[in-house]
Amino acid sequence: MSSIDNLIANVIRADVRTTHAYVVPDSSGYMKLDAMENPYELPLELRKELGQRLADAVLNRYPVASYATLKEKVSAKLGIPAGYDVLLGNGSDELIQIVATSVASQERRAAILAPVPAFVMYARSAQFAGADFVGVKLNPDFSLDMEAMLAAIALHKPAVVFLAYPNNPTGNLFAVEDIEAILHALGENGIAVLDEAYQPFARQTFMDRLGEFENLVVMRTVSKLGLAGIRLGYMTAAPQLLAEFEKVRPPYNVNVLTQVAAEFALDHIEVLDAQAAAINAERERLAAELAALPGVEVFPSAANFISLRVPDAADVVAKLLAERMLIKNLSKMHGSLANCIRVTVSTPEENSAFLNALKAALQAA
Ligand code: PMP
Repeated sequence: MSSIDNLIANVIRADVRTTHAYVVPDSSGYMKLDAMENPYELPLELRKELGQRLADAVLNRYPVASYATLKEKVSAKLGIPAGYDVLLGNGSDELIQIVATSVASQERRAAILAPVPAFVMYARSAQFAGADFVGVKLNPDFSLDMEAMLAAIALHKPAVVFLAYPNNPTGNLFAVEDIEAILHALGENGIAVLDEAYQPFARQTFMDRLGEFENLVVMRTVSKLGLAGIRLGYMTAAPQLLAEFEKVRPPYNVNVLTQVAAEFALDHIEVLDAQAAAINAERERLAAELAALPGVEVFPSAANFISLRVPDAADVVAKLLAERMLIKNLSKMHGSLANCIRVTVSTPEENSAFLNALKAALQAA
């Protein structure tokens, strides 16, 4: 072994050495339908105005540490209930990490539980924080298997249950009464994090239930709303609980450019809301057209993506790639997703191009 190999073996954790990095394919020149982004930019006039604000931003100083103005705007424009503070993150990825890091400790190897298939960062953040990850399989229709969930909660006593609402990669909303039962089962021994990354498209939320459940944390992001590039996530919970997470948040984790851009964009939230409404209308059209294709099973979605089962996912993904379209092959994620693909709902033009390419791929198979 070379000395660098010895160095890595001596220094880097064994479980990190055997983990793959989170891979994001290079998308330049591709129609990007794999990452649930909003395909619309801010209108040019607004971008010019934002450019001026960014030119005036103070970059030689650290951000204003309290983030008071940004927090006020997030609260006012994004529906945080009165009396609840928000914690800001560099994307909700960082918030997931903060939650996982807050519960894992050397004395008590905490368990973090989530239904699977779920967003991969729950398991990765649990692992890197030194917590055990417990995945509980969803029912074949992707609803929560409540018998298995409640049994796993009783057995593993998880400190945290992550529930994406709607779920990624399946797109569905879990039943409200199932989530309530999980919150009750966890009681004072565990928290449930409702990850509402796709709330702009689902509308349904647990944000208005915070007063009922002290162990409820609601997490969101501006990524899917149309601001994925600025990396801003936010979460809220009972003030005393949020104050604990605040201790783990790295200082200045939201940079000045993000702060300026977010404050500006939130002043024009109606533009983003209109884009979300257009995406929702397109989701309904795309779902209906996909459902009419022979051999395709479309799963109901309340998010800005649609997951579907095709006869041969690897073949479809390869053929679309040849047409310079990026979609996600879900097959390797979980056994229940064999031959499933996930596509972001985009502009009418891109959705039609995807539909045509998919039809051609299915016919050629
Ligand atoms: N939660 C879920 C359920 C997601 O699907 C994603 C991104 N795909 C995230 C969180 C991460 O979002 P962000 O861009 O805010 O880090």
